[in-house]
Amino acid sequence: SRAEPLLSVRGLTVRFGGIVALDAVGFDVARGHVCGLIGPNGAGKTTLFNCLSRLYRYQEGDILFEGRSITNLPTHGIAGLGIGRTFQNLAMFRTLSVLQNVMVGGHSRSSAGFLASALQLPQVKAEERQQRERAEEIMVFLALTPVAARPVGTLPFATQKRVELGRALAANPKLLLLDEPAAGLNHEELDDLARLIREIRDRLGVTVLLVEHHMGLVMGVSDRIVALNFGRKIADGTPAQVRDDPAVIEAYLGAP
Ligand code: ATP
Repeated sequence: SRAEPLLSVRGLTVRFGGIVALDAVGFDVARGHVCGLIGPNGAGKTTLFNCLSRLYRYQEGDILFEGRSITNLPTHGIAGLGIGRTFQNLAMFRTLSVLQNVMVGGHSRSSAGFLASALQLPQVKAEERQQRERAEEIMVFLALTPVAARPVGTLPFATQKRVELGRALAANPKLLLLDEPAAGLNHEELDDLARLIREIRDRLGVTVLLVEHHMGLVMGVSDRIVALNFGRKIADGTPAQVRDDPAVIEAYLGAP
């Protein structure tokens, strides 16, 4: 149903040897929300993203997407469900054009389409055309049309980051995981990013889970914020509630 959370993380526990990277973490992400995930270095944010992408196994707990457990899904099953992500260190083909990179993203949603295209099956033409149209819409949305033919590696950093967003959006995700999108951006680029994240939510209807160190950005765009420290959830609420939470202030500033 529409009322059930899009994503539900329950009692998630991840250990690396003696280190408890996540300790019984639970929270929900409502459809149509931007949910911020904050916490000092080593809090467990990246580990959580890697669990959501099925890159890490968890020892305890469960992750429900649209009410169904993803625990036993293979990594490649995640995109098909509608979970897309970007990476802290951009993951693109630097010598391929912007258009090609965005189209590669479109393939990841349907492994059948990717296979058909690799095998040059007849349905490829229609599928390619659809994917190209989708890629072109996304490039308009991200103001990338003027650089569509340029190799990604030749573009300014902020533009490369928009291409990575485009690659993730081309798969038509219901949930988009953004891993530190603000890193390395200047003031003006940060404003553009904030506007884009709101538009991804409001115009594309995509739910966003945002890992971010830049407090201005995360406070400005999030409907809801979950704070982690040493693998534990220490706060969960509106930006104002989380900003004023004594446990959050202590986690960032050290002991009072
Ligand atoms: P940052 O903001 O610095 O990216 P983070 O909140 O993303 O930090 P994680 O990278 O999830 O934190 O790390 C949580 C804890 O788990 C840390 O103590 C880290 O050293 C540990 N950890 C994460 N991944 C691994 C791994 N693959 N092997 C061993 N330890 C790991």
